[in-house]
Amino acid sequence: MELSDRARSIPPSITLAISAQVKEMKAAGKEIIAFGAGEPDFDTPRKISDVAIESLLSGSTHYMPSSGTPEARQAIAHKLKTQNNIDCSQANISINAGAKMSINLSLMSILDPNKNQEVVVPTPAWVSYKPMIELAGGTMVEVPTTVDSSFKCTPEEIEAAITSNTKAIMLNTPSNPCGTMYSPEELRAIAQMLEGHPGIYILSDEIYERLIYSDIKHLSLGSIVEIADRVITINGLSKAYAMTGWRIGYACAPEPVAKAMNTLQSQLNTCITSFCYAVIPVALGMQNEVEEMRQIFARRAALMNELIGNWPNVQCATPTGAFYAFPKISYYFGKTSPAGTEMTDAVNFTKALLEETGVAVVPGTDFGGCGPDHIRLSFACSEEQITEGVNKVGAWLEKF
Ligand code: PMP
Repeated sequence: MELSDRARSIPPSITLAISAQVKEMKAAGKEIIAFGAGEPDFDTPRKISDVAIESLLSGSTHYMPSSGTPEARQAIAHKLKTQNNIDCSQANISINAGAKMSINLSLMSILDPNKNQEVVVPTPAWVSYKPMIELAGGTMVEVPTTVDSSFKCTPEEIEAAITSNTKAIMLNTPSNPCGTMYSPEELRAIAQMLEGHPGIYILSDEIYERLIYSDIKHLSLGSIVEIADRVITINGLSKAYAMTGWRIGYACAPEPVAKAMNTLQSQLNTCITSFCYAVIPVALGMQNEVEEMRQIFARRAALMNELIGNWPNVQCATPTGAFYAFPKISYYFGKTSPAGTEMTDAVNFTKALLEETGVAVVPGTDFGGCGPDHIRLSFACSEEQITEGVNKVGAWLEKF
């Protein structure tokens, strides 16, 4: 019995292989400092959990409408209007099981299989974009960037990747895995270029918008009126509110797209967990807790950047958003590690690093573009761990 082409087309994640090795080493009693996490290390603010418990105990345990509750949709539209300058209403909102599902449903609503449709994505990019685009029937067209431009591409570079088959472009700022972000001026220039390509949807993944650490302001592409009618803004509660396990994401899309997303959702998974709708207005109204977490991340970003700066022959763009540093380590390819392994790529570099120092990072290989020359370190961990782990890597690199 054969699996479907679809199932066989999705490669297993390299990151999972590293996680399995970390687990094995921990089980064998080894102490590991892990920089692999793609989620905040904080607990969800208590106020949010209390609202969910209250909603659960008061009987919100039944199926809900696929479009969600009017209160939740209204709270999201209000947030996007007042904080992001996006002109929208409840009718533009789809609430989904994590931003991941919002991206999936957006892609399924705008792409057709077997029509050679392309989605242009600057890379390195989050590992799930490519499989999600392909599952929806499209092809991902990469616009490779490098550390020299802090992994940002110019309007000209994006435009060179646009063809008559281009159905959408996807931007993620601040970026996972790069830890950098576009300035408002850079985004306006990209929007101006896109004005010349009116048939193209613009997916803007803004899941890290609240986690920024420089004076660069976040700009939502959906606030730029000239292109706003074809922007699909993706966001969610996972990262800013330390709520990854809750699975609450949302999209703000042109009305027909939002409607299609809700219809698809009605057939695929009905709705998000019933008692999660009540927390959306409460979380979105919260400022202090989010700002406290941001400040802690900002200190960690500065610390990690400073310590990586001591690594010999490594180039790293200053992390200005999300919670990742993405240093270039390809200088070491072709050289021999302190314990005698020849470095050939980011995957065997990561394995040798883990075995020889007990520090776990993510190889950049799966992120596309120049990713295979890089490793990703998350600073969703304590300053003590950052100091100890990053210095260990530095001492290891000195011995090459
Ligand atoms: N977009 C990006 C860039 C991400 O890094 C992630 C999480 N790793 C998501 C979307 C999805 O977030 P969630 O499904 O938890 O809301």
